[in-house]
Amino acid sequence: MIRNPIPWPEGARCAVAITFDMDADSLIHIARPADAHDRLNPVSVGRYGPTVAIPRILETYRRFGLKQSFFVPGWCMEQYPKAVSAILKDGHEIGHHGYLHEDPVETAESQREWFEKALEVHRRVTGRKPRGYRAPVYNINQTVVDLLVEHGFRYDSSMMADDIPYLVKSGGEEFYEMPVHWGTDDWPPFAHYAEIGYLMPVKSPSQGLAAFWEEFDATYEAGGFFMLILHPFLTGRLARWRLVERWIERTMAEKNVWFAKLEDIADHLDDLRASGKWEPRAESLPYYTGPVLE
Ligand SMILES: [Zn+2]
Repeated sequence: MIRNPIPWPEGARCAVAITFDMDADSLIHIARPADAHDRLNPVSVGRYGPTVAIPRILETYRRFGLKQSFFVPGWCMEQYPKAVSAILKDGHEIGHHGYLHEDPVETAESQREWFEKALEVHRRVTGRKPRGYRAPVYNINQTVVDLLVEHGFRYDSSMMADDIPYLVKSGGEEFYEMPVHWGTDDWPPFAHYAEIGYLMPVKSPSQGLAAFWEEFDATYEAGGFFMLILHPFLTGRLARWRLVERWIERTMAEKNVWFAKLEDIADHLDDLRASGKWEPRAESLPYYTGPVLE
């Protein structure tokens, strides 16, 4: 059960967001800056996302009439303009996801520069400020929270303190948290990336995705918020995406769900609060002001 279920539009039982982090080959350039440009295998792995998977994913969304959210590092927006303009042309949302997928904890000292460089790319390419943010590798810290507040972001999607969207309060301001979860992220079942220290047996498409559908069933029963965190070069592959397509088709036909962009979910939460129909649970940051051991 969920203690504080969100009333979704038109009586939908559950909100569904299929989010894609289009990291492309940023992952290898940030991990191996000296020689990544000549590591053609990982570069090609990443390029599969914007060149092959994104057109496939967009075609599915057009067929089902879905609008969804993508998170794209600024460098990838500059490097793959065709994929980015196709995403925007179809009315999807693009959120902030760092500049070159730099880990905010590792780059805390220079985080403002990275963050604002990416912000500038968003403004230039999309003509507006992104509403949402997802930290590369989910590694959000207080430095980023302060930047999100300073730049008026509506939501973050990097933390895990609840099943459903909640409020993050910091520095007298607030934004929504659209909570992520490793159980609905395609990295554990499908990533195999020696250069960044990730060597795991790759699951079959049905086995890897089965875990997501079990998560969905529980979320649907509880009347919650179901979000997938996917990567085009992983789940945009032929066999995996074919299964996701079938799931979308089945879910649309048999269940009462609201497929939505995260920015639309944030708008809906604003409306609910304005009309007094629902109030989110809040978490106040920072949790700690220093190490817990003296
Ligand atoms: Zn990413």
